[in-house]
Order: sequence, then structure tokens, then C-alpha cells
Amino acid sequence: MANFTELINKHIIVIGGGAAGFFAAINAAEMHPGIKVTILEKSNKLLAKVRISGGGRCNVTNHCFEINELVKNYPRGSKELKQVFSRFNVSDTIAWFKKRGVDLKTEPDNRMFPDADSSETIIDCFMYQVKKNNIAIKLNEEVLNIIRNPKPETQNPKLEVQTTRESYSADAVICSSGGHNNAKNYNFIQKTGHTISELIPSLFTINLPGNNIKELMGLSVQNATVRVEKTKHQYTGPVLITHWGLSGPAVLKLSAFAAKDFFDRDYNANILINWTGDLNSELVSSELTSWMKEKSLIVNTPLYEIPKRLWAFLVDKADIPDNKPWNELSKKHLNKLAQVLTNDSYNMKGKTTFKEEFVTSGGVNLKEIDFKTMQSKIMPNLYFCGEVLDVDGITGGFNFQNAWSTAFVAASSV
Ligand SMILES: Cc1cc2nc3c(=O)[nH]c(=O)nc-3n(C[C@H](O)[C@H](O)[C@H](O)COP(=O)(O)OP(=O)(O)OC[C@H]3O[C@@H](n4cnc5c(N)ncnc54)[C@H](O)[C@@H]3O)c2cc1C
Repeated sequence: MANFTELINKHIIVIGGGAAGFFAAINAAEMHPGIKVTILEKSNKLLAKVRISGGGRCNVTNHCFEINELVKNYPRGSKELKQVFSRFNVSDTIAWFKKRGVDLKTEPDNRMFPDADSSETIIDCFMYQVKKNNIAIKLNEEVLNIIRNPKPETQNPKLEVQTTRESYSADAVICSSGGHNNAKNYNFIQKTGHTISELIPSLFTINLPGNNIKELMGLSVQNATVRVEKTKHQYTGPVLITHWGLSGPAVLKLSAFAAKDFFDRDYNANILINWTGDLNSELVSSELTSWMKEKSLIVNTPLYEIPKRLWAFLVDKADIPDNKPWNELSKKHLNKLAQVLTNDSYNMKGKTTFKEEFVTSGGVNLKEIDFKTMQSKIMPNLYFCGEVLDVDGITGGFNFQNAWSTAFVAASSV
């Protein structure tokens, strides 16, 4: 680390006043006392997504301490994040906020929120740290260009950051301008020579227009497997029936991991559901056979923890009449019921955004970043962190954990 007199004239510019930008600015200022840090934000709002995140409660991270498990929650970027998390992981996030007066609590599904259940706690914490560390914030300044010192041979070239209002000289620039579904927002990055991977929606729910299953809206199955036919993608977990189709954690996970397949199919796909979780149709057939001595009506005997009304819907889909008892079930109908329970087919036509919590996959090409430092391999002294990278996580606090960890590594490397 440079000594104080060397740092005193140095200037770090952080682009974007979001989660990653604030975390990078605060850590850079704390780690390099005396250095000047400025955040440039194009809008007149700071931490806008943090404020509305997690339904206003801010799902800060996820109670997942094993790095190999943690990275499995990132459809894009999991390989690269391994070394980032080895520098700053979930325990570091918890400790960082605790040290600055914000305790986090864990909910039964492992999501972690501030004890106070309010995203304002995180915003207040950041604003206090910004003031304490004399970080300058400039609102309404959109960065249009990042230009390298005209003398490229200089060992440690300065960068010039041009905004809609001014031009700044910087020793290092941390770019945390977030993820966008409009490619225009990446123009100033492309001008530095970086490539942007294709922008594709992630985290959405499945539309089933005209399908009667929607009449069962509100019902859920805790352990169902959803897959996209003719792809390798399948996920097991809770599936929720909604008034437009299918949602729930297993569907959202599928949408994130199969984002490209869905996009390529223009959101028309055959979705297959195994309502029993992971049992195959042979096993289910043999389990159904053991019921064939019973006199009770099939429609009144829901199995595999399937809610009664959904069970009745599936029995009907297998063409079994409501008045049929188990002991009169034909082999043909038994096999059909086993098939419907394990390989139930739905025609997806379109998608719906999940509670506005959309994520766009795509962003700065990961091959162009050195993940040991988060520095650009194309323009020295330019660093990237947060959602501007081609990294995205599923819901549960993973997107913020990406922002904290990549911002921390960038801040410690400048
Ligand atoms: C409704 C909603 C709820 C969410 N809830 C959660 C949650 O609970 N947990 C979780 O982990 N994730 C959640 N996410 C995702 C999470 O909010 C993002 O992953 C995270 O905010 C990304 O942080 P960032 O700093 O990289 O980008 P952003 O928060 O998008 O910040 C980027 C900033 O840069 C500014 N900017 C852009 N271009 C320029 C430019 N050229 N010049 C200057 N400034 C610029 C933007 O105006 C913005 O303020 C949610 C997302 C949404 C939309």
C-alpha cells in the first residue's frame, strides 16, 4: 500500500451510486486513508434499488457459508466468483455490516435481512460512512467517456472521465453502473474497448394462456421438479400456481439458468412438471398399484403431498372419472395417472416479470476482467464491480452478495 503523502493527491472515481458503487467507495476510502473518492451518479437518486429491494426490507445476503455451494446460485459468473468469494464472502458481509451497527437476521429460507426489517437501515449506514470518510457525491452526472492518458506508454496512466457536465482526472476508476436491459447504457464502456455479452431477461415466471390450471391459483407444491423439454435444465423446489401460470422458487431458478434457451425459443416452450419431486413413472406406477385394493375414491385420496384440488385436476387430466374407486382402476388409467404425476406437460407462451425484481443477464464480458483485482484487462486502472458485469444470481440475496464482494475486491486493488 502506498504511504499517506503518496495517496493524498490521488483520486478514485466511482461510477454509479448504487449498492456496488457505495460499497466500493466506502471500502476504498477506509483502506486508503487520505485518498480522494468521488461517486458520479447519473440520476438524482442514490441507492434506488437498495431502497426497493426485498420488498423494502433489503435481502442483503444469503446464509450460505460454503463457497462451493454459494457459487451454484449464479447462472452466469459462478466460476469467476469463486476467487472473489475467497476474498470476501457471506461471513465478511455479516461482519462488515455488524461493525458498522447493522445486525442481520436469517429467515427460515436462508435469506438474510437487517434486524430492523428495513432497507433504510442499509441506506443510513452507507450515508453515514460516506460522510465520515469525506466521499464526494455528484448527482445528475452521467459518464459519457473514460479516456486513457494520451501517453499510453506511461506505466500508471491516469484516466479522464467525461460526464454530461465536467471532466475529471482519476488515478483509478471503479465502474459500478449496474445492469440494464437497454444496450445504450453500456455505450461508454464499449468505447473503452470492452465487449458486452448479450442482454437477456432472467428471473421471470411462466405464462400459460388458456390453461385451466390457472383456476387453481394460490395452490403450491413444496417439492416439484420443473424442466424445459429438450434441454438439460430442471430444478426441484416449491412451485406456485398463479392467475397467469406458474411461479415459485423452482420456476424462478429455471428461468435464470435456462434464460438463454427461453430467449432463443421466444418464450414458447414445453414445460414438464414432476409433481412428486424426483420419483420416476415406474416407481409411481408401482406405488399406485399398492392402492388398487382400496374402495375409496381416487379423487379423494391425494398422494405425494399434492393439494386436494390439484390432485383432482391431475386425476381428471388422466381421464379418470370422479366416481372411480381405486379397486376399479384399470392398468391403462393407472399408467396414465403415473405419467401425469411425473411428466405433466404445459405449453408456455410468454413470461411475466417476478415482482418487478427483474434481472438482466449479460454485461461486461468476464474474459476481459482479472478477477483477482476486478481490473480491466483492456484499460489499466479501470475496475468493474456489481451488476454491470455479466454476472447474475437467483433471488435470495445473491445479487447483493455479488455487489459487496466484487466491490470489496475492486476497492482493495485500486
Ligand atoms: C425491485 C428489485 C428488488 C431487488 N431485490 C433484491 C434483494 O432483495 N436482494 C438482492 O440480492 N438483489 C435484489 N435485487 C437485485 C439488486 O438490486 C442488484 O443486483 C443490485 O442493486 C446491483 O447493484 P449495482 O450497484 O451493481 O447496480 P445498481 O443498483 O443498478 O446501481 C447502478 C447505478 O449506476 C448509475 N449509472 C448507470 N449508468 C451511469 C453512468 N453512465 N454514469 C453515472 N451513473 C450511472 C445508475 O443510475 C445506478 O444508480 C433487486 C432488484 C430489483 C429491481
